[in-house]
Amino acid sequence: MGMELPVSLVTVTEVGRVTPGTARVTFRADTLPASVGAAPDQQVKLCFPRPGQDRPRLPASDGDAMRWYQAFLALPEDERPVMRSYTIRRRHPGTDLVDIDFVLHGDAGPATRWAENAEPGQVLGMVGPSAEYARPLGEADVLLLVGDETALPALATLVESLPEGVRAVAYVEVADAAEEQSFDTHADLTLHWLHRRTARPGRSSILVEAVRRADLPSGSVFAWLAGEAGTVRALRRHLLDERGLDKHSVDFTGYWRLKLTQDDAPTEEDLADAQEQLARAREQAQASDW
Ligand SMILES: Cc1cc2nc3c(=O)[nH]c(=O)nc-3n(C[C@H](O)[C@H](O)[C@H](O)COP(=O)(O)OP(=O)(O)OC[C@H]3O[C@@H](n4cnc5c(N)ncnc54)[C@H](O)[C@@H]3O)c2cc1C
Repeated sequence: MGMELPVSLVTVTEVGRVTPGTARVTFRADTLPASVGAAPDQQVKLCFPRPGQDRPRLPASDGDAMRWYQAFLALPEDERPVMRSYTIRRRHPGTDLVDIDFVLHGDAGPATRWAENAEPGQVLGMVGPSAEYARPLGEADVLLLVGDETALPALATLVESLPEGVRAVAYVEVADAAEEQSFDTHADLTLHWLHRRTARPGRSSILVEAVRRADLPSGSVFAWLAGEAGTVRALRRHLLDERGLDKHSVDFTGYWRLKLTQDDAPTEEDLADAQEQLARAREQAQASDW
């Protein structure tokens, strides 16, 4: 059996701003499995219509991820939707409504341009989330969460899902104080906001500096890292090489790439990252089989 993959058209019901630089769009899905919103850090691919289309063209899905993606790639390029990755911020309890938060970054690509002008009634495609991509956090004395504003929706769901007694430390890079958000959590969370002061994040990330200087609570550490790919790589290297973390204790994902769009081919560094992530996922799967 192939990988299960929900594919749905989603219609905008509401558009607002969480902060001046983040739009929150509420969508109603045609079909939404019960698992959606039931776990933190759920990733989806949003499909945006091409110019001249009022909704994205989506191949029918029989639930099999590989077959669906092949049919998607077989669409003529000028009709094939633009695809971008996002995170389910929240499912409204008991409904088929989901919130997705879009960072309105300065270097607007198609997803950001769409979100800046989104209006109720507009239709996108939503692919996923797939249960197979669920990545449970590792167990440790201290949970270290590091990311920029694109990672905030995932980080928020993670923090909100933590039980009482968990010690968590988060470092989040945002443009300025107006971009800070607050979350409900039962965990013992210490949240450090870092202000970029310039509009655009870059590789000379203040995140890396802050985590280098961080005086973490004693005990074992599990780290979750997301944000600009080069920054995430530098953070991971620091944790492995300078702090001596085991590589299985670092969950890392490049959410975007400086000067590259999500359509650009992976770089050699991206491919190396993907290998590491695959190895980690395999080991996790094996461990849970035992
Ligand atoms: C698993 C996963 C989950 C994600 N979840 C979210 C989410 O919930 N909310 C969210 O807003 N984003 C999220 N992202 C990041 C988002 O997919 C990227 O920012 C994406 O590039 C946006 O598409 P775009 O069409 O605006 O820009 P693209 O067409 O991909 O890129 C255009 C230009 O914008 C630049 N760029 C892209 N993102 C940023 C940024 N944040 N700041 C500055 N420049 C940027 C690129 O370098 C490029 O030069 C997630 C990514 C992944 C992989």
